[in-house]
Amino acid sequence: GRTGSPRRITVLGATGSIGCNTLDVIGQLGGRDAFEVEALTGHANIGLLAEQAKAVGAKMAVTADETLYGALKSALAGTGIAVAAGASGLMEAAERDVDLVMAAIVGTAGLAPTLAAARRGADIALANKECLVSAGRLFVSAVADGGGTLIPVDSEHSAIFQSMEDDQRHAVERIVLTASGGPFRQMSREEMALVTPERARAHPNWSMGLKISIGSATMFNKALEMIEAHHLFAVAPEAIEVIVHPQSIIHSMVGYSDGSVIAQLGAPDMRTAIGYALAYPRRPKLNVERLDFAKLARLDFEAPDEARFPALRLARLAMARGGMQSAVMNAAEEVACAAFVAGRIGFLAMAEVAEAVMDEMIDWPAGDGMQVVFAADAEARARAASRISRLERAA
Ligand code: NAD
Ligand code: MG
Repeated sequence: GRTGSPRRITVLGATGSIGCNTLDVIGQLGGRDAFEVEALTGHANIGLLAEQAKAVGAKMAVTADETLYGALKSALAGTGIAVAAGASGLMEAAERDVDLVMAAIVGTAGLAPTLAAARRGADIALANKECLVSAGRLFVSAVADGGGTLIPVDSEHSAIFQSMEDDQRHAVERIVLTASGGPFRQMSREEMALVTPERARAHPNWSMGLKISIGSATMFNKALEMIEAHHLFAVAPEAIEVIVHPQSIIHSMVGYSDGSVIAQLGAPDMRTAIGYALAYPRRPKLNVERLDFAKLARLDFEAPDEARFPALRLARLAMARGGMQSAVMNAAEEVACAAFVAGRIGFLAMAEVAEAVMDEMIDWPAGDGMQVVFAADAEARARAASRISRLERAA
């Protein structure tokens, strides 16, 4: 954007954990003096969406749920804020002329609008990692074709982005993704089999949305992040390592050909990565906690246990197999995660369902078009759902 005039921004998924933090950061960076908010989108929480739209003076508010159009319309009556709903509403929001789009819808639901925003040429602050997992090449080339810049918001990928100068990319040997290990880092498989969704969603360090919190407990979140890193930074799967670092202070690292490792550190607060993406290429001033190293005293590391956390193995399998396997893993995991949260299947069944569907769909026709991705995604969802029903009947 031009200096001096506000940057025009749209927030897809404004009512979520990342979305709310994004609006907090917009406020910290100067609010309406710094940002002109074009569109905000949400799903079920109409009250919050309407409050947000009024507070930031958005031009448009969109709910993904068509049946809530009337509720949103009346919540915003008399404000002059345009209202839309459903898939077409999301596309309308995504395609508005802006400088920057924060892509913070959770899951594959974010793929079509985020792709549309990328093609439109906006810079993309990407929180929705599922875009890169299910449609990696397609998404990266959509951003390139549109001419915008892709700035990662996932804390690990923001750390890597911050640790990697463009003219040193040739010397990158490896990427080291840090993982907190989640709430069950030290739990046996026997105990894991019995955990409740309430326990699984209570993350020790980060406060996040439901799906990603469960994904931290299974380490499926890290599995998605391995594939995300592969596409974002064009590194080979073999060059992507995962290390468990329970304090979540080092957000990830890049290892170079001279033996140097460059890392980014900070308090576990998503606003740092969000602020970085919103102010890029400058550094913003943010009111977040500063690290006190004397208080930290120590940083711990341990190798991840792939027997207890099979998701990491599945990510490597998906990348090695190629084709639609990453999209299939992502879709099956999303369905399995919802079934676990609903109390329909156990904790360990999430990875079992994902792996079984991946195996079933190993020869599923591959390709780069959006329709090919959606077809694989839909098939994987259907197969995961029928597996889950069978598991339920057997239990
Ligand atoms: P969340 O569940 O808190 O919020 C999700 C947002 O998406 C909400 O605005 C919701 O209204 C919207 N949404 C939900 N279902 C939708 C649908 N079917 N159609 C359209 N919109 C829908 O999730 P979150 O934790 O904010 O995560 C958002 C994305 O950011 C995810 O892809 C997640 O992996 C990624 N991410 C989150 C964090 C974090 O700290 N929360 C960190 C890194 C990456
Ligand atoms: Mg992350």
